[in-house]
Amino acid sequence: NREWHLLSRPVGWPKDEDFALVEAEVPAPGEGQVLVRNIHLSVDPYMRGRMSDAKSYAAPFGLGEVMQGGAVGEVVESRAEGIAAGDHVLHFLGWREYAAVDARHAVKVDADAAPLSAYLGVLGMTGLTAYAGLLRTAAFKEGDSVFVSGAAGAVGSQVGQLARLKGASRVIGSAGSDEKVELLVKEYGFDAAFNYKSGPVSGQLREAAPDGVDVYFDNVGGDHLEAAVGQLNRDGRIAVCGMISVYNNTEPAPGPRNLARLIQTRGRIEGFLVGDHYDLQPQFVQEVGPWVASGRLKYRETVVEGIGNTLEAFLGVLRGDNTGKMIVTL
Ligand code: NDP
Repeated sequence: NREWHLLSRPVGWPKDEDFALVEAEVPAPGEGQVLVRNIHLSVDPYMRGRMSDAKSYAAPFGLGEVMQGGAVGEVVESRAEGIAAGDHVLHFLGWREYAAVDARHAVKVDADAAPLSAYLGVLGMTGLTAYAGLLRTAAFKEGDSVFVSGAAGAVGSQVGQLARLKGASRVIGSAGSDEKVELLVKEYGFDAAFNYKSGPVSGQLREAAPDGVDVYFDNVGGDHLEAAVGQLNRDGRIAVCGMISVYNNTEPAPGPRNLARLIQTRGRIEGFLVGDHYDLQPQFVQEVGPWVASGRLKYRETVVEGIGNTLEAFLGVLRGDNTGKMIVTL
């Protein structure tokens, strides 16, 4: 049973020396627990925050301890009622091959209804993030024009497609390569998309959204946020989901210089955390599940194989190696 430990708190970009892949015993499940053989691990941008000890919404990972994260696996032994060996469960003890999980923290998932990895992405945490952030926080309504950054990633690709399926007047996305931009327009049905690495975001956004944006779904922060404030329409809403461009900063990043525009636009900026919106989970699965099954909502995954490559997969998310949800398959 191999597991990833955090050895030291990364400063700036995480380095290999901050982590270790450690050989450990397969844990014995206690009463009320199940032993799970993990099949797919999730690596997510928010984990960068848990590697640091700055005050945040989730407790920091402990030094010298195994890290945590979303995972889906097969129950190999059960000492809990309601879950049997052979069942598949979603739980939170990733970054390791075997986990003894409290049954109350394990959710059974159906391997016949969807590929198991989908419960970490399009039908899981990142999917609900897109759904709650767009519909609740940004209060999306039919006819809105929507701009989303990180648009070829797990959350962003779903935000753009949800907006399209729910009657957006225009969907605009930004991503970090020409291949990703092409995917957005040709496969995901975005009306316009641009590569933020090929020129200033503000000018590219103005061109892609000549009539402005009603909703900006922010995954990136920095110049993307400033550009969106600059293009915001009257009564526009900005949902702050993430700011991946600053996660490895060692100094606070400068804020948007144009916030005074919010007065003129009566604009609103609001952050949200998916953890506060699990009441929407049944509605999300009911509405989005059929779109995924029928292919009206498309998704990609970038799959990295082997527990030994989990750290590399995580760093890959920060670098933009992934298209859609990054998954580690064991
Ligand atoms: P993604 O699948 O979108 O992967 C992250 C992507 O970010 C990369 O693929 C890369 O794509 C892009 N990126 C990396 N660095 C930069 C940069 N400097 N500028 C612009 N883009 C960059 O991850 P998720 O879908 O899991 O997460 C998306 C965002 O949502 C993150 O900010 C995350 O923290 C946030 N989040 C927030 C939640 C909440 O509850 N508020 C819950 C889940 C996620 P590219 O090639 O385009 O650069």
